[in-house]
Amino acid sequence: MIDFNREFLMTIDGEAVDSPSKLDAYNPATKSVIARVPDATQEQLNKAVDAAVRAFESWRGTSQSTRASALNSIADALEKNADAFMALLTKEQGKPRPGAEWEILGSVYWLREIAKQSLPDEIVEDSGDRRVITRFSPLGAVGGIVPWNFPVLLAVWKIAPALMAGNTIVIKPSPYTPLCTLKLGELCRSFLPRGVFSVVSGGDDLGKWMTAHPKLAKIAFTGHTETGKNVMRSAAGTLKRLTLELGGNDPAIVLPDVDPKKIAPQLFWAAFQNNAQFCNSTKRLYVHEKVYDEVLRELVDFAKTQKVGDGAAADTALGPIQNLPQYEKVGEYFDDCRTHGYRFAVGGEIDKSAPGWFVPVTLVDNPPENSRIVREEPFGPILPVLKWSDEADVIRRANDTEYGLGASVWGADQEAVQRIGAQLEAGTVWLNEIHQYSPHQAFGGHKQSGIGCENSLHGLMEYTNWHTITLNKKVGFGRGAVGRAA
Ligand code: NAD
Repeated sequence: MIDFNREFLMTIDGEAVDSPSKLDAYNPATKSVIARVPDATQEQLNKAVDAAVRAFESWRGTSQSTRASALNSIADALEKNADAFMALLTKEQGKPRPGAEWEILGSVYWLREIAKQSLPDEIVEDSGDRRVITRFSPLGAVGGIVPWNFPVLLAVWKIAPALMAGNTIVIKPSPYTPLCTLKLGELCRSFLPRGVFSVVSGGDDLGKWMTAHPKLAKIAFTGHTETGKNVMRSAAGTLKRLTLELGGNDPAIVLPDVDPKKIAPQLFWAAFQNNAQFCNSTKRLYVHEKVYDEVLRELVDFAKTQKVGDGAAADTALGPIQNLPQYEKVGEYFDDCRTHGYRFAVGGEIDKSAPGWFVPVTLVDNPPENSRIVREEPFGPILPVLKWSDEADVIRRANDTEYGLGASVWGADQEAVQRIGAQLEAGTVWLNEIHQYSPHQAFGGHKQSGIGCENSLHGLMEYTNWHTITLNKKVGFGRGAVGRAA
């Protein structure tokens, strides 16, 4: 029986492992230390990687059904302990119960769906003379590096395809949210072969050691764009495969024919889901000038009905900011708006004496397009609402960013919604909906929001090498095409 309140240990080579030094894990709603977790040494990482390399030798040869049943076992274990995981997730991440439920049950669903995916051999040619097959072979031992906003789901987005494609994996959770991931590792010890899935906890240095590690074949990374660039630099030394899921500054465009009252709750949650600590939050809300005042007023009214507080309380809609550095960073955007005299339509004042890292939901009324709050990713509950009047101009403004993760368009005129959506430069464009994801839907960023994708067969393929095998069926040796031509 797993105790979700204590004994947070790493899983290395199927064993529980502690480390000489520890990191504190906090509850962001109370700013109190709730657990101490191992801060892995480089030697411990090496042991995890060596175990993953050893385990790969047999895991690579397992059948699809063996791998699928491993993923289903992880899903079953997670589901059986779902309540405990949700409570722990709320405690360490801050998200209220509905968000915790979405993440844990979503992880269960993802594991079961990815377990159904496979990459059959491609028969390129099968003639009397030759047979040419492209096979999708696993890469080896891979590393997964995860952020603190969706610690379990984003780990599962890496673990599931890695194992399903025949790789073994070492996962590193964020130093701010290690608890659920350490427990997930502990759960899997009893049924996964040693070394197939390890969890190491530690600080940013541990991430750096992973990205430079000569025996890891790939890094699947989710985090800031700047960190992603460091990952790429470091991985260059060994030419590792990379999937980079990075930051975003997602625009939402609202057309003049919306019903302001009806759409306000949807737009609110588009921006403030997970307390806006969400790569795909709407981070710039462009509202047509004809409905701007009404939409803003409805958003303000709706915001006032949503309680910010401890995620463990039943009536909390929005939790705290997950960690102190992020709380301070979000505070800088408030200061910047105040310094420049931008108007807060609601919110704007952070109560520094609050028991947790709480920030009020804040709407900034039509700040300039070149302001920091419009250009950058605050990753907290402060949203610029911007006016537009010309369609081509708002498309240009929406695309005028180094990011390209997500975007959305909202309006009754389906034709206009689709016309505008088709011109937005983003990995996912939602039309009259938002934040719909699927294990079978490719998810990734354009521009500096990332490289590669997660989910779908495209995401699965990123855990493989193309392995083309050609067979000459004739007696004797074939000559190459070049030879034939000559
Ligand atoms: P972060 O980049 O600070 O950290 C992410 C992970 O990288 C952590 O585990 C951290 O310890 C590790 N790390 C830090 N420095 C490293 C280095 N030099 N080498 C290797 N690993 C290193 O990001 P965060 O603050 O945890 O997460 C927020 C960011 O993540 C936001 O920008 C958000 O948009 C982005 N994000 C993107 C997606 C997506 O799918 N595109 C999803 C969620 C979050």
